Amino acid sequence: MASYNSIICRYNEIATKGNNRSMFENTLIRNMKRMTKDRVPGLNYVKMRGRIFIHKNEFDVFTDEEQDYLKERLKDCFGLDSFSFCIEGERTIEAVLDHIKNAVKPLFEQLLEKFGRPVKFRTRARRSDKSFPLRSKEIEIETATMIEEMFGENKVRVDLINPDISIGVEIREKNSTIFLETVKARGGLPVGSNSPLLGMLSGGIDSPVACAMAMKRGCRMDFLTFHSYPYTPIESVTKVWRIAKIINRFQPHGVLYACNLSEVQKLIRDNCDPKFRTVLYRRMMMRIASKLCRKHNLYGIVTGEAIGQVASQTVVNMSVIDRAVPDLIVRPLCGMDKLETIARAEDIGTFDISIEPMADSCTVFAPPSPVIHAKLHFVEFEESKIPNMDEAIQKAFDEIKLVTDDGLTDIPSHDITD
Ligand code: ATP
Ligand code: MG
Repeated sequence: MASYNSIICRYNEIATKGNNRSMFENTLIRNMKRMTKDRVPGLNYVKMRGRIFIHKNEFDVFTDEEQDYLKERLKDCFGLDSFSFCIEGERTIEAVLDHIKNAVKPLFEQLLEKFGRPVKFRTRARRSDKSFPLRSKEIEIETATMIEEMFGENKVRVDLINPDISIGVEIREKNSTIFLETVKARGGLPVGSNSPLLGMLSGGIDSPVACAMAMKRGCRMDFLTFHSYPYTPIESVTKVWRIAKIINRFQPHGVLYACNLSEVQKLIRDNCDPKFRTVLYRRMMMRIASKLCRKHNLYGIVTGEAIGQVASQTVVNMSVIDRAVPDLIVRPLCGMDKLETIARAEDIGTFDISIEPMADSCTVFAPPSPVIHAKLHFVEFEESKIPNMDEAIQKAFDEIKLVTDDGLTDIPSHDITD
């Protein structure tokens, strides 16, 4: 790899922010620091007109291991649109030419050997500092000419349409940068730039994708999963914890709460018309989630529901589920096809765990034909038949556990009280 002494980071949507822009930039920088500090401590972050530069003290070069590691971590930092390891130097054409020479020489020789034909390349220049004596086009011509002269036309050829390698040059007020590769990041807004939410994580394919999408809009998340032990195995919670750990890489650690819904489900089984069970379970889940939100200052609930995906997710049923609580319910997947969701699950790395077979809390005592368009007054009537419903909900809430690598543990008493 070339001797890069800096990383040029680009963002997209943050650039459209007016007076709040520096808040978003600062949150992004805080997140980048947090995500990289364990393995590469002591990096400097410098804001420079629409870009953030990262470099080591004294502009030391990044080792190959550091480059590999930082690439992986920065890709997952929401708010970043793309970034490039670069050679940062003085803002003179001489410095630019010099750095290109050093960067491309070993690379082009490698490619020549690999392809056994001339290397096709182009140069792409950008001049945000308009006082620089050469225009972008002129910089492109000057740098391309230098490369052609350096190697001769048998070895290199300018190709603007289909190059093997594109050499980027950016001239800014205080520096120049040369880069050979642009790594695409995930875009969005930095986690922590909006209010935190509670993600309902089921262990299925959809909910982790929904949570990751809410994080991408700047919301830090804690998670809640329902199980029905002993009707579902306790391993279902371990599975959700493995999923939560994967999506936690996008944010400062979010905790996973686990709630046993089985007593509430038994009350519904014993007192209500079976066809309403799924909708009733979901309303109970929402009530417990709502209490947890209030307790921990979370500002809404995220679910992986999509319109029309299953019987409980018709517009009418979802609206009846909403009416159980006053909270904002965010459904990021609302308009997505299942195939789109699967592609995203594969992209964020949760798909393989999600498809591991595991009994689901919602299917416990599930009726053969659930109601598709539940009328609110019928649902409320069914709930009125449940003796001591509020107490049962409160009990399930009081017994919520925290999930860790060691399994389910009690929540420290100062943390959750009612
Ligand atoms: P998923 O793939 O996320 O399980 P799904 O398509 O299977 O979604 P449902 O089982 O109807 O749909 O669940 C809809 C949403 O309700 C889930 O995406 C999740 O947010 C929430 N949910 C369902 N079951 C649970 C559970 N056991 N614990 C926490 N949340 C749940
Ligand atoms: Mg499910």
